[in-house]
Amino acid sequence: MTQKFIVDAMLGKLARWLRILGYDTLYYKDAEDWRIVKRAEEDKRIVVTRDRGLCNRARKRGVECFLVVPDTEVERTLAELAVKYGLYLDVNPEASRCTECNGILEKRDKNLWRCTRCGKEYWKGRHWDTITEVLIKAQALMESYGTAGNSRVRSGKGKIAGEDSSERHKEETET
Ligand SMILES: [Zn+2]
Repeated sequence: MTQKFIVDAMLGKLARWLRILGYDTLYYKDAEDWRIVKRAEEDKRIVVTRDRGLCNRARKRGVECFLVVPDTEVERTLAELAVKYGLYLDVNPEASRCTECNGILEKRDKNLWRCTRCGKEYWKGRHWDTITEVLIKAQALMESYGTAGNSRVRSGKGKIAGEDSSERHKEETET
């Protein structure tokens, strides 16, 4: 899980999903753009936002930014992120993060995990089916893009850094 994210206002649901998938994700609900960009720069996080202005600001500083089109369902956004950044759309409670605070989970019992930061408990119960359903849909979308290729490979180590800059330049010239 080498990719890290910073997600801004209105994308709280997406932030929770990235945490479920095990990606270190900060959620800045009400922060000024420069703060988000600064934090992303410091931690090498990918900015995920609906705010085009924020994206431009981030890219100017060499920070990767993913612009979410309004009214995109979360499955689609996850699929797009997976294709672009090689995310693995599968959930493993051992590697999940707390949806509330981004903390690391610790196994307490057979089907029980607890957040090491805020103490929230997670049961692998019936809601698990819902999680699986959403991810299956996202995976199907990802495959329909046809460019999935090696993005399904779990280990994205070292791959991302090089790809990011070329992707970014390509995008800038297109728009
Ligand atoms: Zn927590």
